[in-house]
Amino acid sequence: MYDLDGWAHVSSGKVRDLYAPQDPSAHASGDVLLVVASDRISAFDHVLPTRIPDKGKILSQLSLWWFEQLGDVVPNHVVSLDVPEEVHGRAMICRRLNMIHVECVARGYLSGSALSEYRATGGICGITLPEGLREGDELAEPIFTPAAKAELGSHDENITFDEMRRREGSLAPQLRSLTLELYGRARRIAAAQGLILADTKFEFGTTPDGSLTRGPVLADEVLTSDSSRFWDASDWEPGRPQYSFDKQFVRDWLLSPASGWDRHSDDPPPALPDEIVERTRDRYLEAFRRLTGSEPVL
Ligand code: ATP
Ligand code: MG
Repeated sequence: MYDLDGWAHVSSGKVRDLYAPQDPSAHASGDVLLVVASDRISAFDHVLPTRIPDKGKILSQLSLWWFEQLGDVVPNHVVSLDVPEEVHGRAMICRRLNMIHVECVARGYLSGSALSEYRATGGICGITLPEGLREGDELAEPIFTPAAKAELGSHDENITFDEMRRREGSLAPQLRSLTLELYGRARRIAAAQGLILADTKFEFGTTPDGSLTRGPVLADEVLTSDSSRFWDASDWEPGRPQYSFDKQFVRDWLLSPASGWDRHSDDPPPALPDEIVERTRDRYLEAFRRLTGSEPVL
């Protein structure tokens, strides 16, 4: 956590820390938050004791790059990058929104929780899928699979679109079409760089009085390797787990005998060896470079 002049810490998620202005009237743009991306990394729903150097900067800058690519599709929460020196490059001042408590997930390929649900029920979130799909297969068309945002420490839960409509009313169809449109755009951009965007999660909010923008505002982080599955198109091979672009080394190592950790025990995960940290950092950098064609400012 940082001690930031003019900002008071409000809350921390697994990866990011939120601060509010000590003097709200100091911000001409109204109710804002400072969102700081840390170098924390989570795996299997645990925050690991080891940091990945510069991860917060790389993902924060990737998220900003995406906000620019998607700016004509939907407004976003970014207000300014005029942030305290200590957090430069890993923070943005954002409009404080009333967050919608449904995570808006789009999937073009079968993986993760969709794969488990498909194997158990033949579908996901109430959408029936054809029989015989393999792990990593491309879906005939992208689908919207909402998830109810869980309290800290528990899993998000996939819900049906009908359930989402009960909770969010007329916002639900709007969020579904926005999510699929954003996914389609991002997927084409990624594909041009030889990357498959298998799935991604967006979070939206609304402005408290609805006056600044009509409709949902894109919030949180977007299309980073923490919120999305990117695969190298040249490695893609359905029928086996795909090589994910970010945490693969971390997950593999944690599950290997070398870590001495039992994922299903109550023990906290162990510290990562330097080599795993280094390789993971390289993967985050590689994703940034391949997508944006530029270097992050570290
Ligand atoms: P995970 O993403 O793994 O569920 P988390 O959601 O607990 O973790 P972080 O992602 O680390 O937490 O922290 C970001 C938090 O800030 C989230 O709760 C997110 O919903 C919230 N948030 C993002 N943008 C805004 C915004 N513009 N206004 C208010 N809250 C926001
Ligand atoms: Mg989050």
